[in-house]
Amino acid sequence: MSKIKIMIDPGHGGRDPGAVANGLVEKDLTLTIAREIREVLLRNYDVLIRMTRDSDMFVSLEDRARLANSWGADYFISVHINAGGGTGFESFIHPHAAKHTGQFQACIHQGILGKIKARDRGRKTANYAVLRLTKMAAVLTESYFIDHVEDSKKLKEASVIKAIATGHVVGLQEMPNLRLINESLTPRPRLVKVYRLLVDGVQVGAYGERENVMAQVNQFLDSAKKIEVERVE
Ligand SMILES: [Zn+2]
Repeated sequence: MSKIKIMIDPGHGGRDPGAVANGLVEKDLTLTIAREIREVLLRNYDVLIRMTRDSDMFVSLEDRARLANSWGADYFISVHINAGGGTGFESFIHPHAAKHTGQFQACIHQGILGKIKARDRGRKTANYAVLRLTKMAAVLTESYFIDHVEDSKKLKEASVIKAIATGHVVGLQEMPNLRLINESLTPRPRLVKVYRLLVDGVQVGAYGERENVMAQVNQFLDSAKKIEVERVE
């Protein structure tokens, strides 16, 4: 049986620092988290891991996707820290992603929220290049806001950085074919059901909470021709 291949993508790097605030630089945080994810995975699972960068270097978005595609990765995880006025955690997949990717997102999303204290901003979709150009199940995580004072304090704690990384792994271990070596890593999270919301045939989001679904339905009710809610799990 061939091993599962996981490509970890630390956001930004080199001349692209990502978001900078409160004495923190996104490209450094994402690399630290990505390395920790790799370490926990290799310690506990029989998997192959690659990273789109393993130093402070610039890699274009196209090259990140190309690296994953040419390797034939099974999963792609892009690690980011949010900015722009807000707080909490959110995750993204491409709006036209396969059902399997929605399930992957749900696992990662719940895995992380089970490990850190953060407001659940929801499972979202966005036309980000690394999500659009990668051929495998791909998710992009935004853990906390670098420009939010309370969030930034959390991001300065080594234990929180570790928890973010472990959360990614807890999510990954829900995926099929991931062979567990060390059973004691962490209790498996209970999968919650997820509602995918499609407006005129395009997925606009996927949510675990009923209120979030209804809020979105409300928002699109007058402008959409067709609104579908699909329960994924
Ligand atoms: Zn970013």
